[in-house]
Amino acid sequence: MRSILFLGTGGARFVVARQIRASGGMWLRLGATQLHVDPGPGALVRALSHIPPCNPRELDAILLSHKHLDHSGDVNVMIEAMTSGGFRKRGVLCAPQDALSGEFVVLPYAQRFPERIEVLRPSAGPYRIGEVDLFTSLAHQHAVETYGLHFRHGDMRISYLPCGRYFDELAEDYARAAPDVLVVNVLRFADGMDVDHLTWEDAQSLVERVRPKVVVFQHFGTKMLERDPSRLAVDLEDRLGLRVIAADDGLELDLDTEVAAVVA
Ligand SMILES: [Zn+2]
Ligand SMILES: [Zn+2]
Repeated sequence: MRSILFLGTGGARFVVARQIRASGGMWLRLGATQLHVDPGPGALVRALSHIPPCNPRELDAILLSHKHLDHSGDVNVMIEAMTSGGFRKRGVLCAPQDALSGEFVVLPYAQRFPERIEVLRPSAGPYRIGEVDLFTSLAHQHAVETYGLHFRHGDMRISYLPCGRYFDELAEDYARAAPDVLVVNVLRFADGMDVDHLTWEDAQSLVERVRPKVVVFQHFGTKMLERDPSRLAVDLEDRLGLRVIAADDGLELDLDTEVAAVVA
């Protein structure tokens, strides 16, 4: 059984501050391995209130793609939950260096609780977590140290493309990873302010170059939500002939079923 549960699909300060969409990150179940990626504000509450609840004490790892608050707000409390308040040293924390030192977001006391800390570097790996091999992407162009995450579990490849500006090498990196399932953060519909985020147009051309079997969009800002991501997904699916999904809060995606449906 391989799945991704979306504990939150909102992005950017405004959507997160008002919780127009939740910001709990993604909970991956890959065989016997459970991973929590980007535990933003509300992650613990969303995990525990899901039916059936996600159990942080069963987590094998907590991963940060980068330290911005919409990705890391609950990282300390999630580490405490994973380690039974720090009393059971267990699990892995994967994060870029700048999340751990300097203007850190993972508090020094909480850094002592996981069994292991993997400092993420560009284009590195495999980092072994349970049954999963994790590789990082090249460095994203974003205000802080940011890496995409390429997961391999058996014959399944899953890539997560977090926030950052579009550039050609970015698409090449994800194309090389050849993901079956690609999760892409699309914060903006169009770019009025030249910020370090993908627009909907960037996201489409990226997907066209990577050509995963299944693509899932999430981490929507206000303007994306106004355009109705599920309608945009249908349009893109028609145009590219790929399976395209716009995630909603609480969506649980059975990856084997989704990929099998495309191949069949
Ligand atoms: Zn973000
Ligand atoms: Zn960010």
